Amino acid sequence: MRSAKILPYCLLVACSLVSASQAPRTTATVTLFEGARLITGDGEAPIENSAFIVENTRFTKVGRKGELKPPAGAVRVDLTGKTVMPALIELHTHLGYWKGMVNSAENYTRENILDHLDRFAYSGVAAVLSLGVARGDLEFQLQDEPHPGAPLLRTAGRGLARPNGGPGAPMRDTPYGISTEAEARKAMQELAAKKANFVKIWVDDRRGTVPKLTADLYRPAIDEAHKRNLHVLAHVSQLADVKDLIRAGLDGFAHPVWMQEETDDELIQVLKQHPKVFILTTLKWGNRIGGRPALLDEPLLRELHPAEELKQVGDELANAKPDDVARARSAWTGRVLPSVAKLKAAGVRFGLGSDFGGTGIGAGFLGVTSHMELENLVAVGLTPAEAIVAATRNSAEILGLDQLGMVAPGKSADFIVLDANPLDNIANTRRIAKVYLRGTDVNRAALRAKWTGKRTTSP
Ligand SMILES: [Zn+2]
Repeated sequence: MRSAKILPYCLLVACSLVSASQAPRTTATVTLFEGARLITGDGEAPIENSAFIVENTRFTKVGRKGELKPPAGAVRVDLTGKTVMPALIELHTHLGYWKGMVNSAENYTRENILDHLDRFAYSGVAAVLSLGVARGDLEFQLQDEPHPGAPLLRTAGRGLARPNGGPGAPMRDTPYGISTEAEARKAMQELAAKKANFVKIWVDDRRGTVPKLTADLYRPAIDEAHKRNLHVLAHVSQLADVKDLIRAGLDGFAHPVWMQEETDDELIQVLKQHPKVFILTTLKWGNRIGGRPALLDEPLLRELHPAEELKQVGDELANAKPDDVARARSAWTGRVLPSVAKLKAAGVRFGLGSDFGGTGIGAGFLGVTSHMELENLVAVGLTPAEAIVAATRNSAEILGLDQLGMVAPGKSADFIVLDANPLDNIANTRRIAKVYLRGTDVNRAALRAKWTGKRTTSP
């Protein structure tokens, strides 16, 4: 039995103590997985009764059961009755601030960020992008270190906003506060030097309550970022800004503008002229507020969070102000659904970004919420297969991690084994039997024990 005291140390030394304390669960050098329904992440029909070979950290062969010849000595894993899909890629999270039900800058430590990465690993996420609210250089250090059993961390470091015009508390003080073109360019140079993966900008006056980053500042910022091979992603709330940002060369959007305004034909035209622009829907609880979502009673959330946290979040959602509930529902049916239909028809590229770890109800629920956003993509009009492509292959491409996002020869062996088929019901991506990251079985039982304080016998 491990004591609770050992664990933080254990996290620092790559969790070797966790695996040493129970049966080793790493895969052998060569493993043949056979019998599963395989969703490869390319959007095509799944391969029924599949087989695939993992050598060390990569997929080497993918085909049908009985067709692949593994080398002598390969371990066989029978996945009959299971479904396999690529691990998810989360493009919009904020790490380190939440601990239990407390959202505070004081929680922002190496141990807490690594705990958040563990929550993503447990939930079948292979890479996360921490989006613009980093404190100091810790995330830059962490993204350079190997973290066995954890998703790849990519960070945007500190984002760009007008002074005091960025994210909500307790992250408000983190972005560069920009007032001149020279400051905008200097911030981009600094982010490039620190090896940021992406730049986050806030172009939003939050209904007149904060100063907004204006075109004379974001245009040179985007220009300077692109000169240094940095891509730029915006938090934005007004349709006119969305169009101008695309014309200025912005790479993609977090947050749905259509919560305030509906997508119009001009935006569709601008997007068609800039086909690489991507959109993260970031619908969060969506139209689930005004009641206690059934999601809160699913095993995955119960394994990640104690019952009292689930009750509190359920109560906050159920007891949301009637005005807020009405506003969310009318936005959903009046703007979100028609907007996504237009964007989808125009061939816009969607990615996966949940925005959990920041502010809002239940924002400390990291990991499972990536699956919730995946479910949102289907609720607003993508097919399950399209939503899975958005959350895997597309999001890996957006992040420049071409080795991720698909089950295919040469790709990193990052995949989820499911007990049910998500093409039948996208909520089935939460029925996780196992997670493999870089060819190794994530020790979910040890993580569950860390969070719940008791061991269970299931995998
Ligand atoms: Zn955010």
